[in-house]
Amino acid sequence: MSFDITNTARSFSGAVTTFSSVVNLSKNKVKSKLSKEKSDKDFCYESLTKVSRSFALVIQQLPTELKDAIAAFYLVLRALDSIEDDMSVEENFKAQTLKTFYLKCTNSSYCLMNIGENENEVELLEKYYKVARFTSTLKPEYQAAIRKITKMMGAGMADFAETEIKTKAQYDKYCHYVAGLVGIGLSDVFSASGLEESFLKEKTELSNAMGLLLQKTNITRDYWEDIYQDRFFWPEEIWKQYAEEKDFFVKNPTDQKSLDCLNEMVINALNHLPQAIEYMSLLKNRQVFRFCAIPQIMAVATLSKLYNNSEALQGIVKIDRSMTMEIFGAVKSMEDFKYYYDKFIEDIKSKNQPDSKHFETLKALLDSVNL
Ligand code: CA
Repeated sequence: MSFDITNTARSFSGAVTTFSSVVNLSKNKVKSKLSKEKSDKDFCYESLTKVSRSFALVIQQLPTELKDAIAAFYLVLRALDSIEDDMSVEENFKAQTLKTFYLKCTNSSYCLMNIGENENEVELLEKYYKVARFTSTLKPEYQAAIRKITKMMGAGMADFAETEIKTKAQYDKYCHYVAGLVGIGLSDVFSASGLEESFLKEKTELSNAMGLLLQKTNITRDYWEDIYQDRFFWPEEIWKQYAEEKDFFVKNPTDQKSLDCLNEMVINALNHLPQAIEYMSLLKNRQVFRFCAIPQIMAVATLSKLYNNSEALQGIVKIDRSMTMEIFGAVKSMEDFKYYYDKFIEDIKSKNQPDSKHFETLKALLDSVNL
Protein backbone atom coordinates (compact mmCIF):
# COMPACT_ATOMS: atom_id res chain seq x y z
CA MET A 1 0.00 0.00 0.00
CA SER A 2 1.19 3.43 -0.91
CA PHE A 3 1.58 4.68 2.61
CA ASP A 4 3.84 1.88 3.59
CA ILE A 5 6.92 3.97 3.18
CA THR A 6 9.54 1.40 3.95
CA ASN A 7 10.02 -2.10 5.17
CA THR A 8 12.72 -0.83 7.47
CA ALA A 9 9.95 0.56 9.62
CA ARG A 10 10.59 -2.00 12.33
CA SER A 11 13.72 -0.18 13.28
CA PHE A 12 11.60 2.66 14.64
CA SER A 13 10.11 0.67 17.48
CA GLY A 14 11.66 3.03 19.99
CA ALA A 15 10.00 6.10 18.55
CA VAL A 16 6.74 4.23 18.07
CA THR A 17 6.74 3.14 21.70
CA THR A 18 7.08 6.75 22.73
CA PHE A 19 4.15 7.54 20.48
CA SER A 20 2.04 4.79 22.07
CA SER A 21 2.83 6.08 25.54
CA VAL A 22 1.53 9.50 24.52
CA VAL A 23 -1.71 7.89 23.30
CA ASN A 24 -2.05 5.93 26.55
CA LEU A 25 -1.51 9.04 28.65
CA SER A 26 -4.39 10.80 26.95
CA LYS A 27 -6.53 7.70 27.60
CA ASN A 28 -6.11 8.02 31.34
CA LYS A 29 -6.93 11.69 31.39
CA VAL A 30 -10.39 11.54 29.85
CA LYS A 31 -13.19 9.38 31.21
CA SER A 32 -16.97 10.04 31.49
CA LYS A 33 -18.99 10.25 28.29
CA LEU A 34 -15.98 10.53 26.05
CA SER A 35 -14.71 7.13 27.13
CA LYS A 36 -16.32 5.25 24.25
CA GLU A 37 -14.81 7.50 21.60
CA LYS A 38 -11.53 7.36 23.45
CA SER A 39 -11.43 3.61 23.34
CA ASP A 40 -12.23 3.67 19.61
CA LYS A 41 -9.52 6.23 19.12
CA ASP A 42 -7.04 4.18 21.13
CA PHE A 43 -7.86 1.13 19.07
CA CYS A 44 -7.30 3.11 15.88
CA TYR A 45 -3.92 4.47 16.89
CA GLU A 46 -2.80 1.10 18.20
CA SER A 47 -3.95 -0.60 15.04
CA LEU A 48 -2.11 2.03 13.01
CA THR A 49 1.20 1.27 14.68
CA LYS A 50 0.59 -2.44 14.14
CA VAL A 51 -0.31 -2.33 10.45
CA SER A 52 2.15 0.39 9.48
CA ARG A 53 4.72 1.64 11.92
CA SER A 54 6.36 3.89 9.37
CA PHE A 55 3.07 5.60 8.66
CA ALA A 56 2.27 5.90 12.36
CA LEU A 57 5.57 7.69 12.68
CA VAL A 58 5.02 10.32 9.97
CA ILE A 59 1.44 10.90 11.08
CA GLN A 60 2.30 11.59 14.72
CA GLN A 61 3.77 15.01 14.04
CA LEU A 62 0.66 16.34 12.26
CA PRO A 63 -1.69 18.79 14.02
CA THR A 64 -4.24 16.81 16.13
CA GLU A 65 -7.26 17.49 13.96
CA LEU A 66 -5.51 16.42 10.79
CA LYS A 67 -3.88 13.50 12.56
CA ASP A 68 -7.24 11.95 13.51
CA ALA A 69 -8.70 12.45 10.04
CA ILE A 70 -5.70 10.97 8.29
CA ALA A 71 -5.38 8.08 10.76
CA ALA A 72 -9.02 7.15 10.10
CA PHE A 73 -8.53 7.64 6.35
CA TYR A 74 -5.52 5.35 6.40
CA LEU A 75 -7.28 2.61 8.38
CA VAL A 76 -10.37 2.63 6.14
CA LEU A 77 -8.17 2.28 3.07
CA ARG A 78 -5.93 -0.26 4.74
CA ALA A 79 -9.00 -2.38 5.53
CA LEU A 80 -10.05 -2.12 1.89
CA ASP A 81 -6.55 -3.07 0.77
CA SER A 82 -6.53 -6.09 3.09
CA ILE A 83 -9.68 -7.35 1.39
CA GLU A 84 -8.09 -6.79 -2.03
CA ASP A 85 -4.89 -8.62 -1.07
CA ASP A 86 -6.46 -11.67 0.58
CA MET A 87 -6.35 -14.31 -2.13
CA SER A 88 -8.45 -16.76 -0.12
CA VAL A 89 -11.56 -14.57 -0.39
CA GLU A 90 -14.10 -15.85 -2.91
CA GLU A 91 -14.02 -13.79 -6.13
CA ASN A 92 -17.60 -12.56 -6.34
CA PHE A 93 -17.81 -11.82 -2.63
CA LYS A 94 -14.54 -9.89 -2.89
CA ALA A 95 -15.69 -7.78 -5.85
CA GLN A 96 -19.00 -7.02 -4.16
CA THR A 97 -17.34 -6.17 -0.83
CA LEU A 98 -14.76 -3.89 -2.46
CA LYS A 99 -17.44 -2.02 -4.42
CA THR A 100 -19.74 -1.47 -1.43
CA PHE A 101 -17.14 -0.90 1.28
CA TYR A 102 -17.58 2.89 1.09
CA LEU A 103 -21.11 2.44 2.45
CA LYS A 104 -19.59 0.98 5.64
CA CYS A 105 -17.08 3.78 6.31
CA THR A 106 -19.08 5.00 9.30
CA ASN A 107 -21.23 1.91 9.93
CA SER A 108 -20.89 1.32 13.67
CA SER A 109 -21.72 -2.39 13.53
CA TYR A 110 -19.77 -3.50 10.46
CA CYS A 111 -17.08 -6.13 10.64
CA LEU A 112 -15.57 -8.90 8.52
CA MET A 113 -14.22 -12.14 9.95
CA ASN A 114 -11.06 -14.00 8.93
CA ILE A 115 -9.93 -11.62 6.20
CA GLY A 116 -6.40 -10.31 6.03
CA GLU A 117 -2.87 -11.58 5.45
CA ASN A 118 -1.69 -11.33 9.04
CA GLU A 119 -3.20 -11.11 12.53
CA ASN A 120 -3.10 -7.31 12.59
CA GLU A 121 -5.11 -6.98 9.39
CA VAL A 122 -7.54 -9.65 10.59
CA GLU A 123 -8.03 -7.72 13.84
CA LEU A 124 -8.54 -4.47 11.92
CA LEU A 125 -11.42 -6.00 9.95
CA GLU A 126 -12.89 -7.95 12.87
CA LYS A 127 -13.12 -4.75 14.88
CA TYR A 128 -13.78 -2.48 11.94
CA TYR A 129 -16.80 -0.96 13.73
CA LYS A 130 -14.33 0.82 16.00
CA VAL A 131 -12.71 2.49 12.99
CA ALA A 132 -16.19 3.32 11.68
CA ARG A 133 -17.22 4.90 15.00
CA PHE A 134 -14.01 6.91 15.14
CA THR A 135 -14.50 8.04 11.53
CA SER A 136 -18.04 9.19 12.33
CA THR A 137 -16.63 11.62 14.94
CA LEU A 138 -14.70 13.51 12.25
CA LYS A 139 -15.84 16.73 10.58
CA PRO A 140 -18.40 16.04 7.79
CA GLU A 141 -15.97 17.33 5.13
CA TYR A 142 -13.39 14.74 6.19
CA GLN A 143 -15.96 11.97 6.22
CA ALA A 144 -17.11 12.97 2.75
CA ALA A 145 -13.54 12.87 1.41
CA ILE A 146 -12.94 9.43 2.95
CA ARG A 147 -16.21 8.06 1.56
CA LYS A 148 -15.56 9.48 -1.93
CA ILE A 149 -12.06 8.03 -2.19
CA THR A 150 -13.09 4.66 -0.71
CA LYS A 151 -15.87 4.39 -3.28
CA MET A 152 -13.56 5.12 -6.22
CA MET A 153 -10.75 2.93 -4.93
CA GLY A 154 -13.03 -0.02 -4.19
CA ALA A 155 -14.54 0.13 -7.66
CA GLY A 156 -11.08 0.31 -9.24
CA MET A 157 -9.75 -2.60 -7.18
CA ALA A 158 -12.77 -4.72 -8.10
CA ASP A 159 -12.14 -3.88 -11.73
CA PHE A 160 -8.47 -4.89 -11.55
CA ALA A 161 -9.20 -8.06 -9.58
CA GLU A 162 -10.15 -9.55 -12.94
CA THR A 163 -7.92 -7.49 -15.26
CA GLU A 164 -4.23 -8.11 -15.73
CA ILE A 165 -1.96 -5.09 -15.99
CA LYS A 166 -0.88 -5.25 -19.62
CA THR A 167 -0.22 -1.74 -20.88
CA LYS A 168 1.58 1.17 -19.28
CA ALA A 169 -1.74 3.04 -19.36
CA GLN A 170 -3.33 0.25 -17.29
CA TYR A 171 -0.40 0.39 -14.91
CA ASP A 172 -1.00 4.11 -14.42
CA LYS A 173 -4.69 3.47 -13.95
CA TYR A 174 -4.17 0.74 -11.35
CA CYS A 175 -1.71 2.94 -9.46
CA HIS A 176 -4.20 5.79 -9.67
CA TYR A 177 -6.84 3.64 -7.98
CA VAL A 178 -4.66 2.31 -5.19
CA ALA A 179 -2.40 5.33 -4.55
CA GLY A 180 -3.15 8.35 -6.75
CA LEU A 181 -6.58 8.53 -5.12
CA VAL A 182 -4.90 8.62 -1.71
CA GLY A 183 -3.00 11.72 -2.84
CA ILE A 184 -6.21 13.28 -4.13
CA GLY A 185 -8.05 12.45 -0.88
CA LEU A 186 -5.23 13.88 1.22
CA SER A 187 -5.41 17.13 -0.73
CA ASP A 188 -9.18 17.23 -0.05
CA VAL A 189 -8.50 16.80 3.66
CA PHE A 190 -5.66 19.36 3.72
CA SER A 191 -7.88 21.94 1.99
CA ALA A 192 -10.83 21.19 4.28
CA SER A 193 -8.63 21.68 7.35
CA GLY A 194 -7.86 25.23 6.34
CA LEU A 195 -4.16 24.55 6.92
CA GLU A 196 -3.59 24.48 3.17
CA GLU A 197 -5.04 26.59 0.36
CA SER A 198 -8.51 25.64 -0.85
CA PHE A 199 -7.17 25.32 -4.41
CA LEU A 200 -5.01 22.36 -3.38
CA LYS A 201 -7.97 19.99 -3.69
CA GLU A 202 -8.34 21.05 -7.36
CA LYS A 203 -4.77 19.96 -8.11
CA THR A 204 -5.79 16.38 -8.77
CA GLU A 205 -3.10 15.67 -11.36
CA LEU A 206 -0.30 16.74 -9.04
CA SER A 207 -1.83 14.89 -6.08
CA ASN A 208 -2.16 11.80 -8.26
CA ALA A 209 1.49 12.06 -9.35
CA MET A 210 2.62 12.07 -5.73
CA GLY A 211 0.74 8.80 -5.11
CA LEU A 212 2.01 7.22 -8.33
CA LEU A 213 5.62 7.98 -7.48
CA LEU A 214 5.28 6.13 -4.15
CA GLN A 215 3.24 3.23 -5.47
CA LYS A 216 5.47 2.59 -8.48
CA THR A 217 8.51 2.67 -6.23
CA ASN A 218 6.96 -0.06 -4.06
CA ILE A 219 5.88 -2.14 -7.04
CA THR A 220 9.38 -1.95 -8.54
CA ARG A 221 11.06 -2.73 -5.22
CA ASP A 222 8.70 -5.60 -4.33
CA TYR A 223 9.26 -7.63 -7.54
CA TRP A 224 11.01 -10.48 -5.75
CA GLU A 225 8.51 -10.70 -2.89
CA ASP A 226 5.52 -10.46 -5.20
CA ILE A 227 6.76 -13.06 -7.65
CA TYR A 228 7.06 -15.56 -4.78
CA GLN A 229 3.53 -14.78 -3.65
CA ASP A 230 2.27 -15.26 -7.16
CA ARG A 231 1.47 -11.58 -7.62
CA PHE A 232 2.83 -9.37 -10.34
CA PHE A 233 2.24 -5.72 -11.08
CA TRP A 234 4.89 -4.87 -13.67
CA PRO A 235 3.10 -4.03 -16.94
CA GLU A 236 3.54 -6.53 -19.74
CA GLU A 237 4.21 -3.66 -22.17
CA ILE A 238 7.46 -3.09 -20.28
CA TRP A 239 8.68 -6.53 -19.21
CA LYS A 240 7.77 -8.40 -22.41
CA GLN A 241 10.39 -6.34 -24.25
CA TYR A 242 13.02 -8.08 -22.15
CA ALA A 243 11.77 -11.60 -21.45
CA GLU A 244 9.21 -14.22 -22.34
CA GLU A 245 8.45 -15.21 -18.75
CA LYS A 246 7.99 -12.93 -15.74
CA ASP A 247 10.34 -15.00 -13.56
CA PHE A 248 13.21 -14.62 -16.06
CA PHE A 249 14.51 -11.67 -14.03
CA VAL A 250 14.70 -13.53 -10.73
CA LYS A 251 16.40 -16.44 -12.48
CA ASN A 252 18.83 -14.21 -14.39
CA PRO A 253 19.32 -11.15 -12.16
CA THR A 254 22.65 -10.08 -13.64
CA ASP A 255 21.60 -10.51 -17.27
CA GLN A 256 21.66 -7.17 -19.10
CA LYS A 257 18.05 -7.67 -20.18
CA SER A 258 16.96 -8.05 -16.55
CA LEU A 259 18.76 -4.89 -15.53
CA ASP A 260 17.39 -2.97 -18.52
CA CYS A 261 13.89 -4.01 -17.50
CA LEU A 262 14.42 -3.04 -13.88
CA ASN A 263 15.84 0.29 -15.01
CA GLU A 264 12.86 0.98 -17.24
CA MET A 265 10.57 0.35 -14.24
CA VAL A 266 12.61 2.81 -12.17
CA ILE A 267 12.48 5.42 -14.94
CA ASN A 268 8.74 4.90 -15.30
CA ALA A 269 8.38 5.82 -11.60
CA LEU A 270 10.81 8.75 -11.87
CA ASN A 271 8.60 10.26 -14.59
CA HIS A 272 6.30 11.49 -11.83
CA LEU A 273 9.02 13.47 -10.07
CA PRO A 274 8.46 16.86 -11.73
CA GLN A 275 4.76 16.91 -10.78
CA ALA A 276 5.41 15.52 -7.31
CA ILE A 277 7.92 18.33 -6.72
CA GLU A 278 5.45 20.90 -8.03
CA TYR A 279 2.93 19.60 -5.50
CA MET A 280 5.42 20.10 -2.68
CA SER A 281 5.97 23.71 -3.73
CA LEU A 282 2.26 24.42 -3.12
CA LEU A 283 2.27 23.34 0.52
CA LYS A 284 2.54 26.04 3.15
CA ASN A 285 2.03 24.24 6.46
CA ARG A 286 5.30 22.95 7.83
CA GLN A 287 3.88 19.79 9.36
CA VAL A 288 1.87 18.91 6.27
CA PHE A 289 4.99 19.53 4.19
CA ARG A 290 6.99 17.14 6.33
CA PHE A 291 4.24 14.52 6.19
CA CYS A 292 4.39 14.56 2.37
CA ALA A 293 8.12 15.15 1.99
CA ILE A 294 9.45 12.20 4.01
CA PRO A 295 7.72 9.46 1.96
CA GLN A 296 8.78 11.20 -1.24
CA ILE A 297 12.41 11.42 -0.26
CA MET A 298 12.30 7.79 0.86
CA ALA A 299 10.89 6.87 -2.55
CA VAL A 300 13.63 8.69 -4.45
CA ALA A 301 16.26 7.17 -2.15
CA THR A 302 14.80 3.72 -2.85
CA LEU A 303 14.75 4.31 -6.62
CA SER A 304 18.39 5.38 -6.53
CA LYS A 305 19.19 2.17 -4.69
CA LEU A 306 17.21 0.02 -7.14
CA TYR A 307 18.69 1.48 -10.30
CA ASN A 308 20.86 -1.06 -12.14
CA ASN A 309 21.05 -3.19 -9.01
CA SER A 310 20.79 -6.92 -9.61
CA GLU A 311 20.19 -7.49 -5.89
CA ALA A 312 16.79 -5.87 -6.32
CA LEU A 313 15.78 -8.88 -8.44
CA GLN A 314 16.94 -11.43 -5.88
CA GLY A 315 15.57 -9.98 -2.68
CA ILE A 316 14.22 -6.84 -1.05
CA VAL A 317 16.62 -3.92 -1.28
CA LYS A 318 16.25 -1.54 1.64
CA ILE A 319 17.60 1.86 2.48
CA ASP A 320 19.89 1.37 5.44
CA ARG A 321 18.63 2.25 8.86
CA SER A 322 20.93 5.17 9.56
CA MET A 323 19.92 6.91 6.32
CA THR A 324 16.23 6.27 7.05
CA MET A 325 16.59 7.73 10.55
CA GLU A 326 18.48 10.69 9.14
CA ILE A 327 15.73 11.45 6.61
CA PHE A 328 12.97 11.12 9.23
CA GLY A 329 14.82 13.50 11.49
CA ALA A 330 16.18 16.01 9.03
CA VAL A 331 13.53 16.75 6.38
CA LYS A 332 11.68 19.76 7.76
CA SER A 333 11.73 22.46 5.11
CA MET A 334 11.97 22.94 1.35
CA GLU A 335 15.73 23.42 1.80
CA ASP A 336 16.14 20.02 3.46
CA PHE A 337 13.88 18.50 0.86
CA LYS A 338 16.06 19.93 -1.93
CA TYR A 339 19.22 18.77 -0.23
CA TYR A 340 18.11 15.12 -0.11
CA TYR A 341 16.46 15.21 -3.51
CA ASP A 342 19.69 16.49 -5.07
CA LYS A 343 21.70 13.90 -3.23
CA PHE A 344 19.68 10.96 -4.55
CA ILE A 345 19.18 12.41 -8.04
CA GLU A 346 22.97 12.84 -8.29
CA ASP A 347 23.32 9.26 -7.15
CA ILE A 348 21.06 8.04 -9.97
CA LYS A 349 22.92 10.25 -12.47
CA SER A 350 26.19 8.63 -11.45
CA LYS A 351 24.72 5.21 -12.23
CA ASN A 352 23.51 6.27 -15.69
CA GLN A 353 26.15 4.77 -18.00
CA PRO A 354 26.53 6.18 -21.56
CA ASP A 355 26.33 2.67 -23.06
CA SER A 356 22.99 1.98 -21.36
CA LYS A 357 19.88 1.49 -23.47
CA HIS A 358 18.13 4.11 -21.33
CA PHE A 359 20.97 6.65 -21.14
CA GLU A 360 19.36 9.47 -23.14
CA THR A 361 15.87 9.02 -21.69
CA LEU A 362 17.09 9.05 -18.11
CA LYS A 363 19.48 11.95 -18.72
CA ALA A 364 16.73 14.10 -20.25
CA LEU A 365 14.36 13.23 -17.41
CA LEU A 366 16.82 14.02 -14.62
CA ASP A 367 17.91 17.24 -16.32
CA SER A 368 14.27 18.33 -16.37
CA VAL A 369 13.87 17.88 -12.62
CA ASN A 370 14.00 21.41 -11.29
CA LEU A 371 14.11 22.19 -7.64
CA1 CA B 1 -3.24 -4.20 -2.48
